[in-house]
Amino acid sequence: MEHELERIRHSTAHLLAHALSQLYPGILFTVGPATESGFFYDFLPRTNLREEDLPAIEKRMQELVKKNYPVLFKTVSKDEARELFKHNPFKLELIEQIEEPVVGISSQGDFFDLCRGDHVPSTGALGHFKLLNVSGVYWRGDKEKPQLQRVLGVAFETAEELAAFIKQREEALEYDHRKIGEEMDLFSLQPEGVGFPFFHPKGLAVIHQLQSFMRSLMTENGYQEIATPTLLSADLWRRSGHSSFYRDSMYFVPIDDEEYAIKPMSCPGAFLIYKNRPRSYRELPMRLSEFGHVHRRELSGVLHGLMRVRAFTQDDAHIMCTLEQMEAEIVNVLKMIFTMLAKTGFETIKIAIATRPENAMGDPEVWDRAIEVLRAAVEKSGYAYYMKEGEGAFYGPKIEVGISDLMGRQWQCSTIQVDFLQPENFDLTYVASSGQKERVVVIHHAIYGSLERFFGILLEHYKGKLPFWIAPLQARILPITDEERPYAQTVMDTLKHAGVRVDMDQSSDPLSGKIKAAQLERIPWMLVIGKKEAAANTVTLRRVDGTQEFGVTVDELVRRAKSLTDSARPN
Ligand SMILES: [Zn+2]
Ligand SMILES: [Zn+2]
Repeated sequence: MEHELERIRHSTAHLLAHALSQLYPGILFTVGPATESGFFYDFLPRTNLREEDLPAIEKRMQELVKKNYPVLFKTVSKDEARELFKHNPFKLELIEQIEEPVVGISSQGDFFDLCRGDHVPSTGALGHFKLLNVSGVYWRGDKEKPQLQRVLGVAFETAEELAAFIKQREEALEYDHRKIGEEMDLFSLQPEGVGFPFFHPKGLAVIHQLQSFMRSLMTENGYQEIATPTLLSADLWRRSGHSSFYRDSMYFVPIDDEEYAIKPMSCPGAFLIYKNRPRSYRELPMRLSEFGHVHRRELSGVLHGLMRVRAFTQDDAHIMCTLEQMEAEIVNVLKMIFTMLAKTGFETIKIAIATRPENAMGDPEVWDRAIEVLRAAVEKSGYAYYMKEGEGAFYGPKIEVGISDLMGRQWQCSTIQVDFLQPENFDLTYVASSGQKERVVVIHHAIYGSLERFFGILLEHYKGKLPFWIAPLQARILPITDEERPYAQTVMDTLKHAGVRVDMDQSSDPLSGKIKAAQLERIPWMLVIGKKEAAANTVTLRRVDGTQEFGVTVDELVRRAKSLTDSARPN
């Protein structure tokens, strides 16, 4: 975040607290930091604030902007600070945690706050902000501690940036994938399976398109597909380290007298297949791919449509290889990721390398070596990258590929992980050309990441108007009257035979109604057939963007459908 923006966000958090202190005397403030996209302030209210209260708070903030109070900063001794905040146990707790002997205090008008400094010179420099919502949080994120309220907001340097944000936010609400999914009849979320999406026929058709694209890409790159069980013995998860490092995210199930777990990842299954017989160096790199349906425990509060779920399908793969082969394999996986993103229409890519987390397994030196390999491979790809310190998985560092959608939002999708630890845990070896047994290295990767989530991202990115090759239904035939039905039927048969996903509107609605229904379902091609078209053996092609073309022959449609589908092949 640029420095100036951070200063504005930080200062706007003080401005929010200033306004709240005037409107709701007795409110106890806790912390109010700047964030990646804005700021928030947490506080203990006397009576709970509601969303409806936000406009009045914004209004008061704007009044304080007009007053143009200078923002002053000074340091005081801890004793002075304790005196200043004697009525606020939260601030007193914070003061105790400050390591320096002095404490920073910022003030504007009659308001003062505990602070590290770095503000705009006066409140008049602020003003391009918006308060987004009120939510409930716990002090220190701890359920045992007092429940607080949080007001979240955004702030920008200019009015234009704020206006752009507001527009983007309205669009995001309008094109929420849950709303589109319902309009297009793709999937649903039901109380009988909280966090477990239900895919309807057309939604599953999209998932199948994504899978079949990935299968071709994998096959071309020398992968072999496997399928491993959903339920596996808890012993196995102990061996992999998941039951100690990942236990909170897993579901356990008793079978007979044994404890089993539902897989949160597919790795151990792939390792068992690798280990099923001795392997020779001639078989390496061995690339095993799997569409693994995994379950992970998530709190119900964080679930969000297809983006955050409790069960999802990873396009998972594991490469067992030698140390020397590792870098070339990662370079190739990156290439596959770029191919997938180009074909699905994502151009803005952000690459991060996530390093050793605190709860990591294994030797830090081994970690360093793995991070170096990841770095070298990313550098070969020519893309810029940044480091995410401490954000790797417990068994290895990873490359994360983030994408931006058309509304400018960031999503994380693909990951590549290097792993020296599971080969130890599972004793994964090969017989080298010397006849010696050697340890393999494992590379884990997922290119879409979660298919469900990627589907959700696609829906929002395209506002439901999916590219022709992914669209569940590519064409709908709209006969104007019943008289055209026999000809319409032959058009449909020809298209179906050519592999186009097509149906016919059987209703007796007027043409405008048929178009409206097809438009809501975002069907790329509406093929209108009236008297004239039937007589000329043509159709009128109406696209989902509203453009029309008259007198198109069926042969021409088949040719175009084929070319649109071919251009989406991975090679
Ligand atoms: Zn401050
Ligand atoms: Zn894995």
